[in-house]
Amino acid sequence: MNLYEIKNLTKTFNRGKKNEIKAIDNVSFSIKKGETLGLVGETGSGKSTIGKTLIHLLKPSSGQILYAGEDINTFKRDQLKSFHKDVQMIFQDPLSSLDPRMKVKDIIAEGIDTFKLIPSKDQRDQKIAELLTMVGLDQRSADQYPFEFSGGQRQRVSIARTLAVEPKVIIADEPIASLDVSIQAQIVNLLADLQQKYQLTYLFIAHDLSMVKYISDRIAVMNQGQIVELAPAEKIYRHPIHPYTQNLLASVPVPDPDYERNRQQVSSNNQLKINPL
Ligand code: ADP
Repeated sequence: MNLYEIKNLTKTFNRGKKNEIKAIDNVSFSIKKGETLGLVGETGSGKSTIGKTLIHLLKPSSGQILYAGEDINTFKRDQLKSFHKDVQMIFQDPLSSLDPRMKVKDIIAEGIDTFKLIPSKDQRDQKIAELLTMVGLDQRSADQYPFEFSGGQRQRVSIARTLAVEPKVIIADEPIASLDVSIQAQIVNLLADLQQKYQLTYLFIAHDLSMVKYISDRIAVMNQGQIVELAPAEKIYRHPIHPYTQNLLASVPVPDPDYERNRQQVSSNNQLKINPL
């Protein structure tokens, strides 16, 4: 079942001005419930703009975005509220989305309280403790501030805050781009584990194929505002058709000895365990 249907989506910035730019150019695709769709392309190809239109942060210039069969740009206030609970976004740099003046426990509590999910303080504290465990953070981190952590730990805080809202969909905009490769693998493994536990649907945005090829069921390749190729991850990795995809692959180590093993693990027990390189 398709959770999202994107039909002929176009987004033009600065329309009618000298610096007019078509960031998304007549793009159509779907995201199935429970899948990870990778969205890959070079910087400036329009990936973030797609992410922001899918979460209703940006309005399309034309085209439709259907979520569970309904056009999100026709939502009434109540529908928008429930949509904003269902669909959450995580970003490349958690520091920009986490308030540096707030302790981790307050950051997570804010996520819980946004939709008034848990009324009592005890229940909230228990939920914070569970979320810290879930993302692999020590309970003592509750009283620390985001700037006291490494990049990978900060991304864990950001994921805990996102999970606090109990979303159905996570749009992850380059969530590992600024991390060391071994930490990237840990965060990708964490996201894969969480997907299985909470039956989440992911749009996973990345500028190259190096990690996204493991976690994605399907991959859409973007170039200059258009999707030039969309296929199962293995097909994109092994038999890309479009020259742009072939070029993107040139920056990924080939042959990759762990590829088969990691993909097999995904298909056999639906759990991904990438070895840190
Ligand atoms: P990506 O995420 O692939 O790096 P973006 O979606 O951020 O690409 O950007 C696509 C294009 O749209 C780029 O040329 C970018 O400069 C432009 N763009 C993005 N956001 C805005 C904006 N708010 N105003 C004007 N141009 C924008």
